[in-house]
Amino acid sequence: MRMADVIVGIDLGTTNSEVAAFLDGRVQILPVEGDPILPSVVGMALDGTLLVGAPARNQSVLYPERTVRSIKRLMGSSQTVSMGERTFTPPEVSALILRELKERAEASLGTEVKKAVITVPAYFSDAQRQATRDAGAIAGLEVPRILNEPTAAALAYGEDRHEAKTLLIYDLGGGTFDVSVVHAEGDLTEVLSSHGDTHLGGDDFDQLLLEHVHGRLIAGGGPDLRADRRAMSRLLWSAEEAKKRLSDEPWARLREEHLAEVRGVPFHLDVEVSRQDFERLIEHLLERTINSVHKALSDAGKRPTELDAILLVGGATRTPLVSEFLERATGMRPRQDLHPDLCVALGAGVLASRLAGHDIEKVLVDVSPYSFGPSHLGILEGRVTPHCYHPIIRRNSPLPVSKTESYWTASDDQTKVRLDIYQGDDPNALRNIPIGGFEVEGLSLVPSGNEILCRMDLDLDGILRVTAVEKRTGLSKAITIERATTALSPEEVRKARERMRELAGDEELDAEDVDGRWEPGDDEPGDGGEGNEGEESNDHLSRVDGLLERGRTLLPKMGPDDRGEAMALLERLEEAREKTDALLMESLSQQLEDLLFFIEEK
Ligand code: AMP
Repeated sequence: MRMADVIVGIDLGTTNSEVAAFLDGRVQILPVEGDPILPSVVGMALDGTLLVGAPARNQSVLYPERTVRSIKRLMGSSQTVSMGERTFTPPEVSALILRELKERAEASLGTEVKKAVITVPAYFSDAQRQATRDAGAIAGLEVPRILNEPTAAALAYGEDRHEAKTLLIYDLGGGTFDVSVVHAEGDLTEVLSSHGDTHLGGDDFDQLLLEHVHGRLIAGGGPDLRADRRAMSRLLWSAEEAKKRLSDEPWARLREEHLAEVRGVPFHLDVEVSRQDFERLIEHLLERTINSVHKALSDAGKRPTELDAILLVGGATRTPLVSEFLERATGMRPRQDLHPDLCVALGAGVLASRLAGHDIEKVLVDVSPYSFGPSHLGILEGRVTPHCYHPIIRRNSPLPVSKTESYWTASDDQTKVRLDIYQGDDPNALRNIPIGGFEVEGLSLVPSGNEILCRMDLDLDGILRVTAVEKRTGLSKAITIERATTALSPEEVRKARERMRELAGDEELDAEDVDGRWEPGDDEPGDGGEGNEGEESNDHLSRVDGLLERGRTLLPKMGPDDRGEAMALLERLEEAREKTDALLMESLSQQLEDLLFFIEEK
């Protein structure tokens, strides 16, 4: 093959299609007008114009009889479809999608494209594969390879090289679900087992959300829209958009101006759904997919512990509950470092580039090397502490990334909250690296449980913007942390910790090793030996125990501010006691004594 050959990789999907190619030294998706995804929808406008992609999808609301969706399901069959007055075979419709992708690729690459690697599901029969080749030929594309989708995913994630791997590929698209256990080695992947459901996917999630919203609408005295096809189509579109937002945010609002007319009066939709509501709706469907995962593993004769990786494929796997279910079922966190709806096209792009003579190992994308999140009040190792931590942005998320999570105030009339932001993965915030913090003041005078949203935006330059918003009023405050993804030097870590302690009003610095993390058992400041041993030490420890006990007993009697301060001191004192850090215990005991004295006097 000559180096001059241009070969692109195409994921010809049931719901969406994408094209990838080697450009500027790497394999990348070729977007058009900023959108990497082409909806696999073809339509005929009223004036006879052919529509492909988003315009066709948009008209399907009004003219479903002039629009064709999910043609992939008919590939290899003798069935035909009609658009307006004309009839088409499945390869002809697929060819219209391929031609659009070819033209997009030519515009991005600035050269003619005559060859494409096209992906198909592993279970596709010979007839279905031949129909795919025929579609390529009709679109003016020679197809040097038809590539199985699980193999494409393995190529994109770089799991094909060097050593043999056992992979679980979980593919949840718009309308289909497949799970395969594969053995990957070199350019070959052998499918050991596969299971699935050809009628399960993100579209079902949209439908469930639509029914939920419609149900709420009726319960609230709104109109029954079921007979209004146009309104229901708009509602479905709105539900899908909300579902996508719920992958990154705890809430989504569905707003449709003038959705219908009720006895001559326009009806506007404005409904809010929470991620929790949505997750409850789809749980039973995800359970079904997990049953398939177990079946696929047992058919392949593999235990979850024998898996080297779980790869996510398909747009619907962006729903966070999917990863949670998989992690619970297998004990392994799925890989998150590629956009799951793009990885099959990227894998096809890797093979296409190799065929064209480029030495491609895997797809390169910018990912966050660290996890980020705020500390919060919660229970850790059986104790209530303000140092609980759960990342909002997870390590290996492709950049740029934006995620939001909800937190709630702990006391009535709490007018301020403090956000301390950490870098790391430990559930104890104190074992992560503090990178910034701020307070939001002027919150509403309401009972505890006031919802505060924390939004994190991390861009390609490693700039992290953290915004806190009081949900009920929109009151917000933000900080920007430069170079959040650059590794900090030990000196910077020390300084960052110091700054955080100062901000928190503490006098003492926590002990730290050079890496900035707690290392129980290491020599630490205050561990110098004076008065730490023998009877004196035991006496000291039992005094601390007594004080801790006294503090815990008094907690229920304290007001919100005192309680917060006391809990923080109790937590730190318990930790210092565990480490038998005499100096720190001394100082914290003194602070706690003073506080308790003050409360007992009240
Ligand atoms: P695919 O067939 O792989 O293109 O996947 C399409 C499905 O992924 C559709 O049901 C989309 O609504 C869904 N999808 C796309 N983006 C997201 C997202 N951010 N969160 C949840 N589902 C998504």
